Amino acid sequence: MKVKDGIIGLIVGDALGVPVEFSSKTERDDDPVSDMREYGTYNQPRGTWSDDSSMTLATMTSIANKKEVDYKDIMDEFINWYLDSKYTNSASGLFDIGNTTGNALRRYLNGAEALDSGCSAEFDNGNGSLMRILPLAYIKDIDYETIENVSGLTHAHKRSQITCVLYIEIAKSMLENEDLTIEEHINLACDKIKEYYKDSEELKHFKKIFNNDFSDVSGRTYVVGSLECVLHCLLNSENYMDAVLDAVNFGGDTDTNAAICGGLAGIYYGYDSIPIDWINQINKIDEVLSLCEKYEAVCDES
Ligand SMILES: [Mg+2]
Repeated sequence: MKVKDGIIGLIVGDALGVPVEFSSKTERDDDPVSDMREYGTYNQPRGTWSDDSSMTLATMTSIANKKEVDYKDIMDEFINWYLDSKYTNSASGLFDIGNTTGNALRRYLNGAEALDSGCSAEFDNGNGSLMRILPLAYIKDIDYETIENVSGLTHAHKRSQITCVLYIEIAKSMLENEDLTIEEHINLACDKIKEYYKDSEELKHFKKIFNNDFSDVSGRTYVVGSLECVLHCLLNSENYMDAVLDAVNFGGDTDTNAAICGGLAGIYYGYDSIPIDWINQINKIDEVLSLCEKYEAVCDES
């Protein structure tokens, strides 16, 4: 099964980063994370995931139930998470939500259509849609418009949408061509993006990624900066564990960057490369694994 490679990779990365979210790079240099921790930033027990995983699971559940990408139904599942803490594995329910995501969900609750709920100002380019977009990589023949729209449910600025498309292209390349290096996957995906968006003003913001220039990355929440950090971690490690720990130890948006990194690292290195001890510490892991199976069955049918 391939779905669990990426999805468990993402969730484990999220859980590794949760206890140290918002810590500085200096703090992480002095006290690097090397194992699953507990408490910290949100005072959560070991193995607790956050919004990144919750919104990913909500997306998978909707697509598995509907057997298609139904924007309104995905938004309804996001609302089930937002209002009722569905898709959380913490006793205290929802404890982490981004500003842009919160604003979009409130617009939807106030009557906006799903595709009109997302926020599209330039400052709405946090990594809040990139962190939950991975399930789309498993859908055969997924088109760019659908990826843009799923991002746009919360993050509707073109830059966030292009970043999601690029991320899905990297993931798809890893799923489809197992013999290539990480750098080759990234370059192939970049070539597709450069061609498809060649007339977009936004493309200039991806120059560093296109040029493999990761000289000044940090643990940012800015969507392009976040992907730069993740790609740097993937390119400078040789296994799942080192890649996600690198992402956490940049500090800043540790859970989200490790989740985004963990999704790709899980696909590239495979489920068996994720330390089983970490997987076993994730509360409700059995529910996640059965959702992965259900989701994969639906993707195989499509
Ligand atoms: Mg989070």
